[in-house]
Amino acid sequence: MQSIKELFKIGNGPSSSHTMGPKNATLIFNERYKQADYVKVILYGSFALTGKGHLTDQIIDKTLIAKHDIEFDYLDVPPHPNTVDYIAYKENKEIGKLRVFSIGGGCIRIDGEEVDSKKDIYPLNTLFDIKEYCVKNRISLSDYVYSIEDDNFRDYLEHILDVMLSGIERGLNVEGTLPGLLKINRKAKMLYDKHVDETNDERDIRHLYAYAYATSEENASGGEIVTAPTCGSCGVMPAVIRYSMEHDNISRKTVIDGLAVAGLIGNLVKKNASISGAEAGCQAEVGTACAMASAYYACVKGANIDHIDQSAEIALEHHLGLTCDPIMGYVQIPCVERNAVAAIRAINAYNLASLLNSSDSKISFDLVVKTMLETGHDLTSNYRETSLGGLAKNYKGEF
Ligand code: SF4
Repeated sequence: MQSIKELFKIGNGPSSSHTMGPKNATLIFNERYKQADYVKVILYGSFALTGKGHLTDQIIDKTLIAKHDIEFDYLDVPPHPNTVDYIAYKENKEIGKLRVFSIGGGCIRIDGEEVDSKKDIYPLNTLFDIKEYCVKNRISLSDYVYSIEDDNFRDYLEHILDVMLSGIERGLNVEGTLPGLLKINRKAKMLYDKHVDETNDERDIRHLYAYAYATSEENASGGEIVTAPTCGSCGVMPAVIRYSMEHDNISRKTVIDGLAVAGLIGNLVKKNASISGAEAGCQAEVGTACAMASAYYACVKGANIDHIDQSAEIALEHHLGLTCDPIMGYVQIPCVERNAVAAIRAINAYNLASLLNSSDSKISFDLVVKTMLETGHDLTSNYRETSLGGLAKNYKGEF
């Protein structure tokens, strides 16, 4: 597994696969083909079908230095659901081509090039093995992470936390509509300010929803967020973190330990399955975010290593089969609301796990991760970020 720094990335929404990945790909193309005077860009698969709603063409247009045209190929079936070709020309002659796959969380792979295995810094790649190592060496999961990552890793997580919390603040202070044709009203501020007769616990849950909306609405508006593990699912972790700080008085130092554990859980999914909605549906994005947030909450509540495993397992297991069907390709419906639902499910998954005897559990987190990938591959492409099925197909409201 790579560093958790490759998972928690700071960038602009609305989509890690559709905006952050293509931006990185275009920067590499600019560097390699400085001599090109014209570029033809072809978007395939999910990039073609939901690229406009996800602003893929806009980010390439903004980043590509040479004169260019962008085409959408809806018919060819690419080797990866998020594929883009850059064909470079000089004086009307083709001088080279770059085919890039956006594999989730803003990461890319260049066709025909070896993956840089030097970046793999974790020797253990299953939660089972990591737990065994931790028990044997009498260390916590967060200590395990710190023992692998570099010296400034805690500072990195401090910065990640600041960006997450400021995203919530910005989102809570904006009203109006989200960009795009759906004209959806932003709801975070309304959810936060709403005056209802409620207990303190009920108020804290309402605020949890507001925090998830705030970050997700920022993402949908192109604001700065942290991929956790992706842009579309970026609202879950910040919401659960701020909830824990307010509801449970969790200190900043403990939050950082929890973030390290959440990152480890997300990294395991990224390594052994997928965090890409185009590859495995929304279970890979919001399902993974829910598992990360549940592991985070278990960690900061002082749960033992088995209960952290079980919290993440319950959270992901009950997202199995969750489809990706964003209306018109916008990361708005069902995405924003789904982040709020996943935030409360993360807390509930921990609450349930804490009541159960973990030695009775027959299903491990590793097994659910494997199952999630198989389930994702069994989903037809209509339910993997193409907007050809589900809500995207059946919604007949006004555009
Ligand atoms: S439905 Fe889920 S996976 Fe699909 S775009 Fe929305 S958040 Fe991402």
